[in-house]
Amino acid sequence: MNDDEKLKENDKLAGRIWKIRDYIQELEDIKEGIIHFLLSRKKLDDVTKNLWISDVKEFYYNTVSAWEMLNSTSKGNLKYLDNSKSFLHAARSRLAKSLSELKFYKEELVSNHIKEVEISFEKCWNAFYFEFDFLTPSKKIIEPIARIIKVSDSEYHLPCSVCSKISVEYKIGYGRFDEQESLVYSGITHSRSLRRDLANELFEILKNEDLLGVYHFMQKYHSIEGLDAYCPKCDKIYCWEHYNAREEYDDGFYDCTMGECPAGHRRMIDD
Ligand SMILES: [Zn+2]
Ligand SMILES: [Zn+2]
Repeated sequence: MNDDEKLKENDKLAGRIWKIRDYIQELEDIKEGIIHFLLSRKKLDDVTKNLWISDVKEFYYNTVSAWEMLNSTSKGNLKYLDNSKSFLHAARSRLAKSLSELKFYKEELVSNHIKEVEISFEKCWNAFYFEFDFLTPSKKIIEPIARIIKVSDSEYHLPCSVCSKISVEYKIGYGRFDEQESLVYSGITHSRSLRRDLANELFEILKNEDLLGVYHFMQKYHSIEGLDAYCPKCDKIYCWEHYNAREEYDDGFYDCTMGECPAGHRRMIDD
């Protein structure tokens, strides 16, 4: 591409990114509509009402932050790309929470608001993802991604099979609330401290690069969902983004996280 073409390409990019603001404007109008609706209803106490209003605001401001980060990325600050994604995913979670709260009202007006915001946000999401793909630097050398990385005798990492981002970490150490050494697990949905004496059993499985074995280990000692970043049908690890993880809410309370891998396998990855 010569300089002239590059300039044109950059202009086009700037134009598209500017256009995403139209979608965000739509979301702002809907946000205002929802707040207005909540304020006009007498059925709720003020504390709950304020909480629900702050949820819908948080949804909106996360989307705005995602746009600001995207805008910076498009101007060459590639380090903001991940931040933009994180804000966009946070917005989606907040929206899910907010909608579960709105469903408290069994009114037609509510189902209209919900439909409207879902359609608008999806348009916005797709526009963001078009730019994420466009802005992601293409990797020149495609090295095979390791299934399991041994960092030391007491630490292992599991990278995403698509983008190689470290998605799961196991190490012997101290979790946030630990008084004694534990086997600390950090996955894509949460972290947890497991008993220190389980480390030998787990590290033996990890040495054999047996991801299914790790999954079963987690089912046995942690929870029925097993290893959150793992798709048993693919026998692969995915990061939050590539597992397309989505939080689900019930009446404003966290219910579970569902994952859908790139091959379309869906399962509950956290409860
Ligand atoms: Zn990934
Ligand atoms: Zn899968």
